[in-house]
Amino acid sequence: MGEYLLACDEGTSSARSVLFDRDGNVASSAQLELQSAFPNDGWVEQDANATWEAQHSSIDHALERFGVSPSALHAVGITNQRETTIVWDRTTGEPIGPAITWQCRRTASRCDALKAANDTAWISGRTGLKVDPYFSATKIRWMLDNDPALQRRANDGELAFGTVDSWLVFKLTAGSVHAIDRTNASRTLLMDLRHGIWDDELLAFFDIPKAMMPTIVPSCGILGITAGEVLGVEVPIAGIAGDQQAALVGQGCFTPNAAKLTYGTGAFLLVHTGSEPRTSNAGLLSTTAASLTNGAEFALEGSVFSAGSTIQWLRDNLGVLSSAAESEAMATSVPDSAGVFLVPAFEGLGAPHWDAKARGAIVGLTRAADRSHLVRAALESMALQTFDLIDALEADTGERISELRVDGGAAMNDFLLQFQADVLDRPVVRPKNLESTVRGAAHLAAVATDFWSELTYEVNQRFEPNMTVSEREAKLSGWRDALRAVL
Ligand code: ADP
Repeated sequence: MGEYLLACDEGTSSARSVLFDRDGNVASSAQLELQSAFPNDGWVEQDANATWEAQHSSIDHALERFGVSPSALHAVGITNQRETTIVWDRTTGEPIGPAITWQCRRTASRCDALKAANDTAWISGRTGLKVDPYFSATKIRWMLDNDPALQRRANDGELAFGTVDSWLVFKLTAGSVHAIDRTNASRTLLMDLRHGIWDDELLAFFDIPKAMMPTIVPSCGILGITAGEVLGVEVPIAGIAGDQQAALVGQGCFTPNAAKLTYGTGAFLLVHTGSEPRTSNAGLLSTTAASLTNGAEFALEGSVFSAGSTIQWLRDNLGVLSSAAESEAMATSVPDSAGVFLVPAFEGLGAPHWDAKARGAIVGLTRAADRSHLVRAALESMALQTFDLIDALEADTGERISELRVDGGAAMNDFLLQFQADVLDRPVVRPKNLESTVRGAAHLAAVATDFWSELTYEVNQRFEPNMTVSEREAKLSGWRDALRAVL
């Protein structure tokens, strides 16, 4: 029985490792940046070996920084960027190529062709998703299409598919466990959402051999033991959830209509819907929520592909910011965005618009606009996209979300949260602990191994709406015009 629980968070922009004590406090953490490659228009890749090495190093750093040895560990929880697809050789553990990340749109034309040739409504009914390049299925197919020998090896069970959780579990167990948790599996376009099993008809439709698929395991429960030669200790891996589902747990959203929004690279809204999957008519996805009791729980989800990444783009590509944090001071240095709207459709638009081919635009420029207005418009675009999601969701469920709990890297930005509360016309709540994702992963592993049973939720700041109706209407109408220009 070690004294610390290790939560691994393999995100899009970083690999983090966090040690929690039995009171749920963070004892130590370490983080390493991850690189993405953009080899083609709309393509996004990562080096799977590099992501594992970054995760492994961050575990070592978190332990070293706190001066404890691996034997102090009690259990491991995992959370990860979802949908990102890795295929590797089961024997050597070597990936067959770069990981195709969730942001990658390379299979957009394949998805269009599938939709043109088939009625795909049954796929949405079965998976809660839609045929879109975002999900893993067409990414796997793309990898196998590249080389006929790979198809044969996949059929023969020589190749393994996994999302990032599967990859970390495979590495942490020195290749002895090939698993995926139910929340991650629900993002592949290959799982029967209601029953939590691989669907043979979906596998056949996407032409993906079952022999390469991992075992679907519950989000809360022991699924494997870390290998001594990898981590220096043999401890249970006891909880996994995809990043958004982990954040739903970490934000304490366990009952119907409880909602959280994570502003990271993308922005993700999840609303718990209880023990029944709900279908959406407004372009939201139906997905699995991580269950603490191994029951079936569900959520509705809307995703914005480019949120914090728009700030990164302003920093790295345009050089108008020296850091993401600087965006707040720049945005508040001007009274408004001077009529500028930025539609960050770098990788197409997700819910509720679902246009894989849309590309970004800056509209409303006059000679009065400067970089502060552009930065302000970028932050506003994060909140306006969120408004569209919530608007669509409420149209679907006919129920009002009373408040929005927020987290993720950009939730540090007070300007963003106030503007979010203003356009939504309801409170936005920031918890004291912004690490909802990693806390959610830790909570799943902690519950499964009796490390702790309760998760405390403390508020850091509540942002109350403070915008006149006419101001709000003008903002929303300008945004709708800008969207029309790119759709
Ligand atoms: P992920 O888990 O997707 O890697 P994080 O939750 O770590 O992302 O958030 C990082 C993102 O948030 C980056 O895209 C960064 O540009 C953005 N970000 C970080 N701090 C701020 C800030 N103060 N204001 C606006 N955006 C920010």
